[in-house]
This record gives sequence, structure tokens and C-alpha cells, in this order.
Amino acid sequence: MTPEPAPEAIEHVDVLVIGAGISGIGAARYLAHEHPRRRVVVLEARMSFGGTWDLFRYPGIRSDSDLHTFGYEFKPWREKEAIADADQILRYLGQALAENDLAQQVRYGHRVVRADWRSERAHWVVTVEHGGRTITMTAGWIFAGTGYYRYDEGYTPVFQGRERFAGQIVHPQFWPEDLDYTGKRVVVIGSGATAVTLVPALAQRAAHVTMLQRTPTYVLPVPRVDRLATLLQAWLGPDRGYAVSRRVNIARQRAIWSFCQRRPRLARRLIRWVNTRQLPPGFDVDRHFNPPYDPWDQRLCAVPDGDLFRVIREGRADVVTDRIVTFTETGVQLAGGEHLEADVIVTATGLNLQVFGGIELRVDGEPVEVAQTVVHRGTMLSGVPNLSLSVGYTNSSWTLKVGILCRYLCQLLAHMDAHGYDTAYVVADPGMPTRPLLDFGAGYVQRSLGELPRQGPHAPWRMSMNYHDDRKLLDGPLISEGLHFRRSREHAVSGGRGVVA
Ligand SMILES: Cc1cc2nc3c(=O)[nH]c(=O)nc-3n(C[C@H](O)[C@H](O)[C@H](O)COP(=O)(O)OP(=O)(O)OC[C@H]3O[C@@H](n4cnc5c(N)ncnc54)[C@H](O)[C@@H]3O)c2cc1C
Repeated sequence: MTPEPAPEAIEHVDVLVIGAGISGIGAARYLAHEHPRRRVVVLEARMSFGGTWDLFRYPGIRSDSDLHTFGYEFKPWREKEAIADADQILRYLGQALAENDLAQQVRYGHRVVRADWRSERAHWVVTVEHGGRTITMTAGWIFAGTGYYRYDEGYTPVFQGRERFAGQIVHPQFWPEDLDYTGKRVVVIGSGATAVTLVPALAQRAAHVTMLQRTPTYVLPVPRVDRLATLLQAWLGPDRGYAVSRRVNIARQRAIWSFCQRRPRLARRLIRWVNTRQLPPGFDVDRHFNPPYDPWDQRLCAVPDGDLFRVIREGRADVVTDRIVTFTETGVQLAGGEHLEADVIVTATGLNLQVFGGIELRVDGEPVEVAQTVVHRGTMLSGVPNLSLSVGYTNSSWTLKVGILCRYLCQLLAHMDAHGYDTAYVVADPGMPTRPLLDFGAGYVQRSLGELPRQGPHAPWRMSMNYHDDRKLLDGPLISEGLHFRRSREHAVSGGRGVVA
């Protein structure tokens, strides 16, 4: 167990928010608003805020959600484009920090490496690396806004003959600032959101871009500018207009998702029809845009104003669906016999999933086996007191869920204040059947399901992906199955797992 630091030597915070991405900044704002007297500090490992939107620097980097739902409930999105690029999102987040006076709460270059819950003190002892030093602090509650993937590495499968390739190989997570692809032949390996973003952006300057995929993805054009949202903001003013367009877009996202779940064959036919209209005559839609799974079994890829289809129509990019046999000196050899010539190969092959940003969690000295925990209301974990995890929606905008979780945390803290509790914890019935946290087919999720917490068969143990259900739950009673509170400092427990039954 990490030795208990001398009390006078360490800093204590009421809530420690880890991560200054869209989740962590949102959490800090909700807490500042609802619990202004609580001492809240945000620790961020990187030297800037924004997380995902600061890390990824590849050409064309943008959201695929509309910002009326990806933005915060408390801060209207005022830009013309609903699908926004990373700079616009960073500007928005910078404003959220400034407008809510949060900047002084954020400490950059602070990586949390360990958090050890002490039942008898009802606090976390947190180990932080900063500037080559190790700092210890204590926290009454941890909000882990650490995202869902590793920042220090992306996912790249093993490609036979990779070392033979004489050109440049680039992973989008580490885009070289000085990469000049003007007039070059680029092969982008992948078919996900990153690949479909990169292809039209690279095609502006490259001699030719080929999107090389093993399996197709559903791709749908979406308008970059949401005309209805623009009109609503003009008619109703920025605040009310934003609130209404947000509601409209939430309903629209849900309707599309439900339709795909209920009528997958019809949805597939409709998507095919839309694709066919956008692609040049004779294009093999069934080979390149007809996935083996149903729509929304994996995230649909949105392409603003159909930019991917446009560059294919213009002959500046094409799609090849085949298996890679080996990289060669000059490109990629495919199983079907074709050889793709390339000067640059971009491996848009995905992320390595990670919850808790690599933080080692302990409860009273015992390591937490995250894969043995069950999520409660999508945020607390069985056996892990005073900690909220922030995992957003995978079938809608991430932030919609994070907003709900933040408000739930604020309610929990208010309840604890009202009753003098210092500890909240959840206990799952050991006989409860559980299943993986995410019912989502994406490769990066499937590869890591074994390391994630699990979910139960019913609320509050189910990982809901439905905004309206979550809102109802939030507006319902706070007290729910499995949730317990305690005044630990009064009833000190010595040794063992303390509060966790
Ligand atoms: C290219 C790309 C595009 C995406 N587009 C969309 C989209 O359009 N819509 C959508 O809903 N979702 C999208 N997503 C998912 C997206 O990541 C989330 O929606 C959202 O940005 C996640 O925000 P976050 O704050 O939870 O996590 P992140 O943005 O990952 O931020 C986490 C932060 O925590 C910090 N951190 C992690 N571990 C530690 C630690 N141990 N100590 C200190 N700090 C730590 C990180 O440095 C980082 O700053 C996209 C993802 C990617 C990769």
C-alpha cells in the first residue's frame, strides 16, 4: 500500500477531475456551478486541453457528430458549421474554460499514475508525475475524464514486409507536421471515421489517394451546415435556438438508430440507394460500401456534404476492398493479385482502448481488477468507492451522456452533503449475470472487451446507450439498487476491503 503521506505535507481536493478533454472540462463546469464551495482540481497529463481534439493533427480532422449535440448543454454552439473541425472544437473548449473561470483549476503536465482508496480516511491517495517529480495528493472523489484509448500508441496490425517499403508509413495519431504529400500517391489503410476523413482531405494535394479496406463500413453524407439549427438560432436567439436544435438532433439521431435496429434490411437498402446516387456510374457499391454487418452494429461514418463521394466521382480517390498480403518496396501487394503503388502509406487502423488512462487503481491496498467490476448507472464501479468513470455514447454524441453523468455526480454529492456521508459505493450481487460493457462491433472495442468493466442485465447495472432513458433515470429517485452510503470517518474500518462488501 502507498504509505499514508504526512497530512500537513499534502494538498487535499474535494473532487479530482482527471483529464482536460471535453469530458473533464464539462465535469469541472458542472461542479463549479452546482458545488461552488467544493475544491475541484483538474489534472491533465498533456500540456494543453482538448484531449482528442488536440492530439489528432491529421489533415481534415473533424467531428462526425453535429456540435449541437456534441457541444455542452450549457454552452450554445454558435459556429455556422455543425460538423466542426478540431480547431473550432478547441476554440469552443477554450471559451468554456474562460467563461466559467476554470483555467486556474487546470494543471497541465500532471499525469496521474496511481490512485489508492483509503476506507478509514474516506479519501483517495493519488500519485501524480509532474516535471520528473512524483507528487502525492488526496481527493474525496475522482472523476475520471480520461477518455477511452491510449494516447502513447495507436493500433497497427502486423503487416508482412512492412520494413521493405521505401516510402513513408504514417499513423494518423502521430501525424508528422512536415509531411509533404503534394503530388504523391497515398494509400490509406482503413475504413473507419479517420480513413473517410483523411481521404478527401489528402486528395486536395496528393496525386491520387486509395482507401484500402479489408471490410467496408456504412458511409452516409451529412450536411456540414445544419440549416434548421441556423434558422432556429436566428429566430429564437442563440440560447433557445441551440436548445431546440439540440433536442431536434437528439431525436433525429435516436430515430435513425432505432430505425436501423428495427428494420436493418430496409436501412441497408436505403443507405445503398444514397451511396449509389453519390458515386459514379458503374461503381461497385456492393463491394466497397456494403458491410457484412447491419447498420449501427458499428458506428456509421458520416461524410460532410458527401466529400468522400465527391473525390471518388472526380477520380482523385478510389476504394479498394481486399486483403493485404505484404508491403513491398513500392507499395502494397493484395490477395486479389493487384499491386497498389504508393509513396506514402497511412495506417488508419485504429486505437488501442484503455479506460482510466493507465492509472493503477487500488482499494485499501488491493489492486482493482477492472474487468471484475460492474458499472452502476454507467459511471460508478462495484467495489470502487467515490469514483466516477466517464464513458459517453457510442451510438450518438459522446458528450450527451457525459453531461448526464456529471449532473448525476452533482446530485450524489448534494445527497452526501445533506446526510453527512463521506463515502458512496456500489455493491453488485455476486450472482448477477453480467456481459461486456459495450455491445459494439468496432474492432478496437472487441479487442479490449476483456479489460473493461462489465454491465448487468437491468437498470441501474445496464450500460444504457439511450439518452431519453438516461434522462428519465436521472430525474427519478437518486437511491437505486446497489448504491450505499457511509460515514467512514466516524466508523473507521481497519484493514481488509473496508467499505466494500
Ligand atoms: C479522431 C476522433 C474523432 C472523434 N469524433 C467524435 C465525434 O464526432 N463524436 C463523438 O461523439 N465522439 C467522437 N470521438 C470520440 C471522442 O474521443 C469523444 O467523443 C471525446 O472527445 C472524448 O472526450 P474525453 O474528454 O472523454 O476524452 P479525451 O478527449 O480522450 O480526453 C482525455 C484527456 O484525459 C487525459 N488523461 C488521460 N489519462 C490521464 C492521466 N492518467 N492523467 C492525467 N490526464 C490523463 C488525456 O491526456 C486527455 O487530455 C472521436 C474520437 C476520435 C479519436
